[in-house]
Amino acid sequence: MPAESTFVIVGASLTGAKAAETLREEGFEGNIVLLGDEHERPYERPPLSKGYLLGNEEKSSIYVHEESWYAKNGVDLRLGVRATALDPGAKQVSLDDGGTVAYDRLLLATGASPRRLNVPGSDLDGVLYLRRVGDSERLRAALHGGGHVVTVGAGWIGLEVTAAAREAGCEVTVVEPEPVALYRSLGPELGGVFADLHKEHGVVFRTGESVTEFRGSGGKVSEAVTSSGTVLPADHVVVGIGAIPSTGLAADAGLDVGNGVIADAGLHSSAPDVFVAGDVANSFRPLYGKHVRVEHWANALSSGPAVAKSMLGQGISYDVVPYFFSDQYDLGMETAGLPEPGSYDKVVYRGNLEGREFIAFWLSGGVVVAGMNVNVWDVNDDIQALTQARHQVDEARLADVDVPIADL
Ligand SMILES: Cc1cc2nc3c(=O)[nH]c(=O)nc-3n(C[C@H](O)[C@H](O)[C@H](O)COP(=O)(O)OP(=O)(O)OC[C@H]3O[C@@H](n4cnc5c(N)ncnc54)[C@H](O)[C@@H]3O)c2cc1C
Repeated sequence: MPAESTFVIVGASLTGAKAAETLREEGFEGNIVLLGDEHERPYERPPLSKGYLLGNEEKSSIYVHEESWYAKNGVDLRLGVRATALDPGAKQVSLDDGGTVAYDRLLLATGASPRRLNVPGSDLDGVLYLRRVGDSERLRAALHGGGHVVTVGAGWIGLEVTAAAREAGCEVTVVEPEPVALYRSLGPELGGVFADLHKEHGVVFRTGESVTEFRGSGGKVSEAVTSSGTVLPADHVVVGIGAIPSTGLAADAGLDVGNGVIADAGLHSSAPDVFVAGDVANSFRPLYGKHVRVEHWANALSSGPAVAKSMLGQGISYDVVPYFFSDQYDLGMETAGLPEPGSYDKVVYRGNLEGREFIAFWLSGGVVVAGMNVNVWDVNDDIQALTQARHQVDEARLADVDVPIADL
């Protein structure tokens, strides 16, 4: 690229910051403009539902780079500014401060935002969501006071906040319309492992139910009503019912959009010189033979550098095995692959399921398509390699703790 080129990144996110870092590492000498509508420099979100929420991690530990890194690396970081329109013909982005920025290449790293629950009373004070650092701080202050918490949604964020709320001494009820926790992430078999963990910590689950109404007094929530007519005391409510990819800019500009911004394996969107990565990207994955969008920290960490190389004209194929992690109480887990319902026909375990020290393998037609290690460490790289290999495995050997995964 000519030295005077300008690369604009919309989304001062983990993906955006990693892309900027890689552009410089790869020798790009042009202008880099990194636009973010939050007032914080790029930070990582996983601590917001774990250590930072619990008050165990310092704020300084969540940032992707030191404050001085941006100026040192010639990255024009503009915070508190929102990109409001994209004109792919004029190669220009409009900003909410009235300005415009012209680009030679553009990266959309706009991420996702929480899906809102739209029931009567959902605008009452005390009905909280968790995406940004300020949300985590508000939630921490709320949980600190104890009381009754209703968690709406037994997904990852809902369960991690539930664990934090229990550790803060709150009484927690989780309301989840699916038959089991984590149903859409892990299928019916493994969700029970996580639900049991929480039940042992005193959490009450109301599965097969949804919240139909919040009630309160003085503008503050005090009760949640479920579809069974049950009225739950609720000093605080945490809604964790999924996230929606932030596709507005792309959709308004006429780019192909559908469950994210559609991209090829090189992370090119349908518009010339417009690239996409992170939570907002629904990119073609050769491993799966279809477009895949994930909301994973590791995907931000790896697709940021990958898209930077693609922006520089290096031919890349972004095809890593999806990787996700979670920590709840004393349980730590890592998942490789996408064990969604419908994608597998069998689950094989090795290790101690009841003691929650095991590996679960999801198989389809005798081939491992995903794996999860729970309180077992230093195996996820091998599990990723196994899911990538796509070969038939011997189930007895798969279940045998003495057979190294790399030998399967
Ligand atoms: C509380 C929480 C806990 C999590 N825990 C885990 C975990 O344990 N493990 C795991 O694998 N993943 C976890 N994740 C998911 C992980 O954090 C996300 O996958 C990751 O943050 C995605 O990064 P991103 O860069 O794609 O987007 P984001 O982090 O969403 O960042 C996008 C940024 O772009 C900004 N933006 C959007 N539109 C515009 C615009 N028009 N103009 C300017 N700026 C804009 C947004 O405000 C935001 O700052 C967690 C997420 C949350 C919220």
